[in-house]
Amino acid sequence: MSAFVFLVEHDRGAIAETTLGGLRAAREVAAAARLDLHAAIPGTSGDALADEVATHGPAGIHLLHHELLDDYGPDAWAAGASQLADSLGATAVAATGTDRGNEVLAHLAAVRDEAMVANCLTVSVGADAWEMTRVRWGGSLHERSSLTGDLKLLTFAPHAREPEPVGAGDASTATFTPTLDAVHATTVVRDRTETAAGVTLATAPVVVSGGRGVGSAEGFAPLEALAARLGGVVGCSRVVTNNGWRPHSDQVGQTGTVVAPDLYIACGISGAVQHWVGMMNAKHVLAINTDAQAPMVTKADWAVVGDLETIVPAILAEIDRRHG
Ligand SMILES: Cc1cc2nc3c(=O)[nH]c(=O)nc-3n(C[C@H](O)[C@H](O)[C@H](O)COP(=O)(O)OP(=O)(O)OC[C@H]3O[C@@H](n4cnc5c(N)ncnc54)[C@H](O)[C@@H]3O)c2cc1C
Repeated sequence: MSAFVFLVEHDRGAIAETTLGGLRAAREVAAAARLDLHAAIPGTSGDALADEVATHGPAGIHLLHHELLDDYGPDAWAAGASQLADSLGATAVAATGTDRGNEVLAHLAAVRDEAMVANCLTVSVGADAWEMTRVRWGGSLHERSSLTGDLKLLTFAPHAREPEPVGAGDASTATFTPTLDAVHATTVVRDRTETAAGVTLATAPVVVSGGRGVGSAEGFAPLEALAARLGGVVGCSRVVTNNGWRPHSDQVGQTGTVVAPDLYIACGISGAVQHWVGMMNAKHVLAINTDAQAPMVTKADWAVVGDLETIVPAILAEIDRRHG
């Protein structure tokens, strides 16, 4: 039986939230394809995860040991997975479709000159091709793809499957030492900075978000004041981050943070689909916009059609008046 390699994602030993769900999806696809499932855990800091991973059904667990694998680096992780795949004669390599999982598999695909399908929801194994449905555009589109080739490379959409342990099993555990050098250290995570203790954009009950209509970095001051009054945080659209008015960590949307606050106040944001998919789960949406036909206005629970430079200070003044 040939092998199916699944890359276990972790950060210095802290397992990524969605990796075991991806491992379950890999187990199901490997069974359908009659492939042995092997789990690859990069870096010695991941060794301690072997027992937990073993309960999710792989036939083999491979501890990838090399100093370049101890911290995340897409080149090194991809090379490690590639060399392990060769040593096992693998015909498929997968990971969960997180930022890192997709990045590593994309590197692997580039190095091996193979196709890769990201964020699969379902995979149907055929004799020659695998047919998959995959998530695109932040979930607003499901696309059918077909994967052929000797080495099939894919990621599973986060939460496409939830973890399902199947008992301790009889997985063998072995160390694998790939050959890596400076060329694989182009990008390596070296340090981490804890940010945003307390309320974060992803968890805030209120998000006051600004778009192109805010006009400048300085224009966000009234939005900051409103967020502070409401116990929330400031978010923004991609136009704002592209213009350098706010950091990317504030961006809401398909290529930013997905939020689901009780109240989302969209100031000068048109409501493009890539923004909408990042905040469509907000319980209530208030749009402030000069254009009554803007999608954000027509879809919002409430809208104020007018200039945010007038409306936001008026809301602040009313809050202050009511609170004496
Ligand atoms: C692959 C891809 C990924 C993307 N990912 C994201 C993402 O994650 N997040 C994201 O936001 N976008 C994303 N985008 C960009 C997205 O398509 C839109 O271009 C962007 O969301 C528009 O930002 P905006 O609403 O601020 O600007 P605009 O679309 O220019 O809208 C500005 C709005 O402000 C209003 N306005 C102007 N002046 C005022 C005023 N004084 N008072 C009140 N209203 C005013 C206008 O009527 C208008 O509705 C992505 C695009 C692509 C192609």
